[in-house]
Amino acid sequence: MTRELDILIVGAGVVGLSIARQMSRYNLRIAVVEKEPDVAMGATKANSAIVHGGYAEHHKTLKGQLCYAGRRQFAQLCRDLQVPFKPCGSLVATEQENDRPHLESLLDNGRKNGLDDLEIIGQDQLRQLEPEISPRMRYALWCRGAGICSPYELAIALAENAIDNGVAIYLNQPLLAAEWQPERHRFSLSTPDHHFLARYAINATGLAAAEVRSLIGEPPYSIQPRSGQYLLMQRGSGDRLRQVLFPMPGPMGKGILVAPTVYGNLIVGPDALDANGEADRSTDLDRLNAIWLQARHSNSALDPKEMIRSFSGVRAVATTDDFIIEMSSIRGWIDAAGIQSPGLTASPAIAERIEAIIRDDGLPLIKKDNWQPRRIAEAAMTGPLPYTMRDAADRATWPDGPERMICRCEQVEQQRISGLFQRVLPVLTIDAVKRRTRAGMGICQGQFCRPRVIEQINRYGQLYDDKTDAERLGLRRVDRTAWLAWLKENDVPS
Ligand SMILES: Cc1cc2nc3c(=O)[nH]c(=O)nc-3n(C[C@H](O)[C@H](O)[C@H](O)COP(=O)(O)OP(=O)(O)OC[C@H]3O[C@@H](n4cnc5c(N)ncnc54)[C@H](O)[C@@H]3O)c2cc1C
Repeated sequence: MTRELDILIVGAGVVGLSIARQMSRYNLRIAVVEKEPDVAMGATKANSAIVHGGYAEHHKTLKGQLCYAGRRQFAQLCRDLQVPFKPCGSLVATEQENDRPHLESLLDNGRKNGLDDLEIIGQDQLRQLEPEISPRMRYALWCRGAGICSPYELAIALAENAIDNGVAIYLNQPLLAAEWQPERHRFSLSTPDHHFLARYAINATGLAAAEVRSLIGEPPYSIQPRSGQYLLMQRGSGDRLRQVLFPMPGPMGKGILVAPTVYGNLIVGPDALDANGEADRSTDLDRLNAIWLQARHSNSALDPKEMIRSFSGVRAVATTDDFIIEMSSIRGWIDAAGIQSPGLTASPAIAERIEAIIRDDGLPLIKKDNWQPRRIAEAAMTGPLPYTMRDAADRATWPDGPERMICRCEQVEQQRISGLFQRVLPVLTIDAVKRRTRAGMGICQGQFCRPRVIEQINRYGQLYDDKTDAERLGLRRVDRTAWLAWLKENDVPS
């Protein structure tokens, strides 16, 4: 059966979903198609989670113009959607006197981008703000309002809120064919199980954007995959750091950062390596080692033994090295492509820009009376965990029931998981449960809770395919055991 739409959005990352929510305020028929069995399975799930200041990208680029415009919306957005956000501030720190002019040019660029919460500080203030910073560091650019968030939770929340406001989301439905039908002024768009006729098609497919655009025969642009690897340290390690710490930026980006996560882990990375062809999401010891050494340079209190996981994310870098947000020569096809960093931060502003393109094209945008900005969710456990390890382990032995502990490390009770199956967005994979509850994100990385999570999915829903779980994809990732063995072999001090 064919479904008539005003807008079909292709790709359910943070960009596609921000657009879906933004446009859901209007009386329009909107759908999103996503090729994976959950939302936020691309760059949106594996990145640094920083809500960037907006000083690093040149003021003449779209990246520069949209970063701060997005950042300014984060506090309200995350309040409305009930997802974690912490405006903890960020520091670009250096030990070199001759880096000062570079800091000043970042400050100047930030001001041109509209920022009013930037200043250069010296060693004393730096030490006061961030006692853990290496004593070698002498100057820093301090951005008070930069912050940290939970990108995949934001995307899930955007999806749920968009659904509440009438948007349809189709998972496991890659866009396979697209054709402009001039006689109808509509795109004919097909996925394996659905066919749509839509006035507008929005391409928000990240790394696949060039390929998806080629479906309508438009001249392609080129998207370069650029991978970045990370080390994630155990919960609690992040409590020692107050801000996001950056080195001086380089030609490949903002450099290796050390930052707390909203759940109190520390994240260390990413490096940047251009891939030939398809980007690999594996991790390797050589790159992680180099990341570690660079991070140690700015932060003396990192303990390598706290590592619990390594992972890799892949940036979609356009040849222009800027966001591509524009209507193609086929009127109605809009690309949101090349959305590399700071695409997460800029996502609310990217959505507004798409809205402006559609408005300028003449589509009547009539506001709904009943648009609901808020999404109700269970509070995220971002603070200290309520039970001791011993109590949590004891609760894991309780008989089947709402308060039985499913995940001991992150203290996720059975009722938290069963509650997921009443929500508007389907939960089909182990990974989906993990990203909504944190079951499997602790120090044992799901070894204990995985069978219990599968049991819950099979009881309340239906397990789609456990091969979509990151651990089952055949990726070669350096795990804690390999990392600790490497530390020992190389005599790395803690
Ligand atoms: C290593 C790294 C670090 C980063 N750090 C930060 C940061 O700290 N702060 C920040 O602001 N930004 C950061 N970014 C950038 C940010 O993560 C991205 O800009 C953002 O997630 C892009 O979102 P997206 O929706 O465009 O793409 P994606 O999240 O990749 O979503 C694209 C979606 O399209 C789907 N798709 C693909 N093909 C099809 C098809 N044919 N049919 C249907 N669906 C399809 C994919 O499955 C995917 O879900 C980082 C990125 C990386 C990789």
